Amino acid sequence: MKRPLYSIRMQASRNGHHLSGAEHLSTKAELEPLAASLIKRALEHMRGRAETIQLSIDKVDEAQIGYGVLPDLHTYLVDDYHQGRRAAAAILQKAGVTSAAIEGAMVAMASGAAPDGHNMRGAMLIDAVSGYRLEPDQARGVRVSRMDLTEQARHELTLGLRSLGLDNAHVREALVLAGKVVTAPGVLAELCWSDDPDYTAGYVASAQLGYIRFPHLKPKGEERGGRAFFLAAGEQNLSELIDYLQCKPLLFDHIGQFHRSRQWVEPS
Ligand code: AMP
Repeated sequence: MKRPLYSIRMQASRNGHHLSGAEHLSTKAELEPLAASLIKRALEHMRGRAETIQLSIDKVDEAQIGYGVLPDLHTYLVDDYHQGRRAAAAILQKAGVTSAAIEGAMVAMASGAAPDGHNMRGAMLIDAVSGYRLEPDQARGVRVSRMDLTEQARHELTLGLRSLGLDNAHVREALVLAGKVVTAPGVLAELCWSDDPDYTAGYVASAQLGYIRFPHLKPKGEERGGRAFFLAAGEQNLSELIDYLQCKPLLFDHIGQFHRSRQWVEPS
């Protein structure tokens, strides 16, 4: 990608609550069209038109840019969101998260994880053993930014996702976000389902297991969604972790493998 690179972040709110956000790394030439598309996204959001839109653009220090490989993508087909959440919980346990921590995260995400019962702007940080929430601000959470794909990796990702019928902005952006989260120091796994009422899919991601999608993690029409990053107990240097998630520029120059969907089989 041509240098310099800029971090571009959009945050939109409505009635004082988080509505939409996005983060990219961009070349100078792409910056203007990208800014226009992010403003359009905030004004045409399906949960309503943004009332406040904040755009931040910062030049990235080239010496700081790291490179990475996207996680492998798997899909487990599930009958409904109840089965989807059981499947997600089983995989999170495999990644080392206790059932108490999983239950706490799912209850918070289902009921609106911010203190006022709305969606958070960012993610919860959850101790993977005790289930305690560790993010310094429970309304804001931690917003991951400064990550993107090289042009070649974006092209390859589009072709791979297209072959699975999954080439949409939700999957593309979530894979990139999860790809950064699972490389963060002390993060065992991530759980996500969207706050977009029409998008019922969600995922669990971990460095070992990859990015595991479930077509249903919430009922259709549900506007509450969120993200939980589960942290290994005893390895928590929160300021280092938050700094990595928010500030470290990471460009994915290689994609992972794409696996065909499999039916989830409940453990007997
Ligand atoms: P989305 O997948 O965009 O529908 O977002 C679902 C939820 O994930 C949001 O309500 C936020 O709580 C959280 N989220 C979205 N983007 C980020 C991000 N860049 N970093 C951390 N959390 C995020």
